[in-house]
Formats: sequence, C-alpha cells, structure tokens
Amino acid sequence: MNSFRDNLRKITPYVPGEQSKEKDIVKINANENPYPPSPKAVEALKSFNTDTLRFYPNANANILKEALAEYYGVGVKNVFVGNGSDDVLALAFQSFFCGELPIAYPDITYSFYPVWCDLFNIPYKTYPLGEDFRINIEDYKEPNGGVVIPNPNAPTSLGEGEDFIRKLLEYNRDSVVIIDEAYVDFGVYSSVKLTEEYDNLLVTGTFSKSRSLAGMRIGFAIGSAELIGVLEAVKNSYNSYTVDSLSIDMGIASIKDDEYFKETINKVIATRERVTNELRSLGFEVLDSQTNFILATHEGYNMKELFDYLKTKKVFIRYFSLPRIEKYVRVTIGTDDEMDRFLCEVKSFTEGK
Ligand SMILES: *Cc1c(COP(=O)(O)O)cnc(C)c1O
Repeated sequence: MNSFRDNLRKITPYVPGEQSKEKDIVKINANENPYPPSPKAVEALKSFNTDTLRFYPNANANILKEALAEYYGVGVKNVFVGNGSDDVLALAFQSFFCGELPIAYPDITYSFYPVWCDLFNIPYKTYPLGEDFRINIEDYKEPNGGVVIPNPNAPTSLGEGEDFIRKLLEYNRDSVVIIDEAYVDFGVYSSVKLTEEYDNLLVTGTFSKSRSLAGMRIGFAIGSAELIGVLEAVKNSYNSYTVDSLSIDMGIASIKDDEYFKETINKVIATRERVTNELRSLGFEVLDSQTNFILATHEGYNMKELFDYLKTKKVFIRYFSLPRIEKYVRVTIGTDDEMDRFLCEVKSFTEGK
C-alpha cells in the first residue's frame, strides 16, 4: 500500500543544548554569553519604530552589510548576512559543495556539518583529530570537494594560527574553504584578512556568542565578491529576506559599540582562565580554550555522572555521548557568580565520591 508517509523526508536533526525556563538555574550548556547585549543595541530595540514593520526589510540587509564592511575593513560586496550563522553555513554548503568529491572536516567538530551533508546529499569524509585533539593539517592535502573547519574548533575549544590557515589554503587552491569563526572573538587569529588573497575562502561569523544576541539570529560571511555573489543568488532563490528589520537595527548598533564588546569579551576570558585554573587544581584536565567554553575531564570520575549530578543541582552543562569525547564535559563560561556555583557543585560531587 502506498502512503503519503513514503514520501516524507527521513532525517536525523541536529540537537541543540536544552533550553530551560526554570528559575534559579545556571545555564552553561549552549555557549551563550552571560552578559546582556550592548546597551546601544537595547536602545535600538526600545526606539524601534514599529510602523515600519509593514515594509519589507532593507534590501539584502545592505545597511547591516555596510556596518560589517566598515568594521572588518572589507567592501560591502564582500559581506553576506543571514538568519544566524547556521543559516549562512547551510546556504554556503548548498552553494559551494556541489561537486562529486567528498568535502573534508574533522571527526570531532560542530555536529551540524554532517546534518547538512545528509540534508543536501553532500558526500563527506572526516579526518580524525590527533590524540591532543589538534587538526592534522597534512590530512587536508587529499583532493576534496571543499573544506569546512571551525577556528577555534568546537567542542575542543582549540584554535589555530595564521600559518596553519595559510597552509590549509595552499593545499586547497581548488576547493572552497570555509572557516567557521563562531568563537574567534574569544582569542584566536581571524582569517578575514586572508579573504583578500584567496578568492576561494569564506569566513563565517555570528552575533550569537561574542555579541550576546543569540535570540536575534544574526550571522554573516566574508569572502570574495564571487563567492558572496553565489551565496546571494542561492539565498534569493529560497528566501529574499532572511534578516528582519529589527535584527538589522540591533546588529548595526551592536557592531558600533566596540567598547562594550571588548569589555564583555575580556570579562569572559578572565573568568575562563580562572575556572580553568581552579578545575586543574581539583585534578581536572582542561584543554587550553580560546573560546567561551571549556572541555574538561577527570581521570577519577565519570563525566556523564558529573553531568547528571549537576543537573540535579540545577547547573546545566553539556555532555556528548560520542566516541572520543564521551570522557569529557563541555562547560560554557558564565558570570563569575555562576561559575562559583558550578565550581562549588563540582567540589561537592568529587567529595561525595
Ligand atoms: C554556535 C555556532 C554556530 C552558529 O550560531 P548561530 O547562532 O546560528 O549564529 C556556528 N558554528 C559553530 C561552531 C557554533 O558553535
């Protein structure tokens, strides 16, 4: 018997960190920023003229692109914007990975990549990270249909410098290389400047982590006019207005408030270093994070048990039951108060054992 169900798409989606509305919780499971967005962005929201909502947003979100172009010192034609960087990355996968060869990325990385490959029928091959969770650059010499790497990588929290990225680009002159810079502002080399030299390089970024605007859904990409043109064509074959008027205004206000941006980044980095040191003094192994989260483990304890224990104490962290990282937990850097509560509950867990 035929059924409409035969024609339904069967797919396993990406699962984000849990969102809980409970009061009194410490939510350090989704790499969100613990500080509010820039007061200038909040002001843009408060003074937003709602009468303008009957109009479609600014064409191609051009005014937001102009603000980003100025901030990054590139041309407006080198900037693309979308509804969060997940939207930008999904469009980039559809736009650039249309060949026969598999695209290349690390075995441990952003778990959305295999989901998009399945959704868009893109062949892919993963290359295992080393024992130290570092990317082996020589793997990416093999012919491929494209490369995507987060820098810093997630959930390892480890970043690479300019030499690494240049080598990657030299090995891959005939593929589009996407560098996903979701966490770049927390202290690693940005490849944006290299987009002037390599017209096959696309760098993606987001307002969700370093700019405290995950709820507004603003993402962007920087690359050659050629790549950006293809992204625009694919987007305009799908949905012309992916960034709404309010996001455009708040995004511009956020970009223009560099002082607040630097201040919150520095606070997150300082807390990250403190928490890393405290966990190490408790015998944890903590990777040298260049992001707003840490990946940690302890030889003496089961990390899934720690994750479950903390949940009962209303401290939400992230655990992945995936090969190689099942011995670790991922902890987002919250405020100092939140991290004190986290550390206190970690101590009570280890002392109860
Ligand atoms: C959070 C994240 C993104 C996407 O964030 P958006 O909220 O969609 O902008 C992309 N890549 C990585 C590696 C991330 O961690």
